[in-house]
Amino acid sequence: MTTRSAVLHSPKSATGSLRVNGGRLWRSLMELAQIGATPKGGVRRLALTSLDGQGRDLVVGWLKETGSRVEIDGAGNIFATRPGRDPAARVVLTGSHIDTQPSGGKFDGNYGVLAGLEVLRTLNDAGIATEHPVAVAIWTNEEGSRFVPVMGGSGAFAGVHTLEHLLQQRDVDGIAFGDALKDIGYAGDAPVGGRALDAYFEAHIEQGPILVLGRHPWERAAMHCAALRGWSRRSTHWRCATCQTAGPRLGSCRSAPIRAMSSPGSSR
Ligand SMILES: [Zn+2]
Repeated sequence: MTTRSAVLHSPKSATGSLRVNGGRLWRSLMELAQIGATPKGGVRRLALTSLDGQGRDLVVGWLKETGSRVEIDGAGNIFATRPGRDPAARVVLTGSHIDTQPSGGKFDGNYGVLAGLEVLRTLNDAGIATEHPVAVAIWTNEEGSRFVPVMGGSGAFAGVHTLEHLLQQRDVDGIAFGDALKDIGYAGDAPVGGRALDAYFEAHIEQGPILVLGRHPWERAAMHCAALRGWSRRSTHWRCATCQTAGPRLGSCRSAPIRAMSSPGSSR
């Protein structure tokens, strides 16, 4: 019998020879980086500013061009879903964030989002129908430079804090998160959390000192969480607990969505 993993790794299979369009991905990264570009080549696009709104509009436009269904939840998290053959199958999710630090770079979370977009474009180009829906997420206020808590949108999604708590947070000028979200037009009406996920992948460019130490523990945990099929909730909790306690820098990574995978709403 041919196992699922054998199919995925077979060079003869449709996915085995599939390649993303690196030039297209690069051009998208460079175009997005123009929004909030700084003189020395960086990007300053703080969460829920008009620049963040412009960045969201650009990427959402690209996601819609793939034919994906775009939904925005009450925390401003964006989900673009490319349907699968099995409408009842759980979503395979990827993504990251496009807000930046005050002196941010072109890549960081932007790469994770646009890499997901490139996956959707590539699947379309190749005419591939996946069994599961494939979706790209853009999480709101992951950097926490303007509002706390950091990972605001994914934290609400995962139930780490309530949506009400998030919407009431204020920046240094006293502007509420909820008001800023409305101002840029991204206070959506989709429910926050509760999405049944099959797996979550995130490609993420980190700029912290941990890079010199080698591969991230959280990354390994995420890959395990995402790659394991038929995992038990107990084992997923253990792996996610690992990435949440690996250190302050690592803790700022995507533990919240991973934790969501182990929530009752997404248990297998
Ligand atoms: Zn990041």
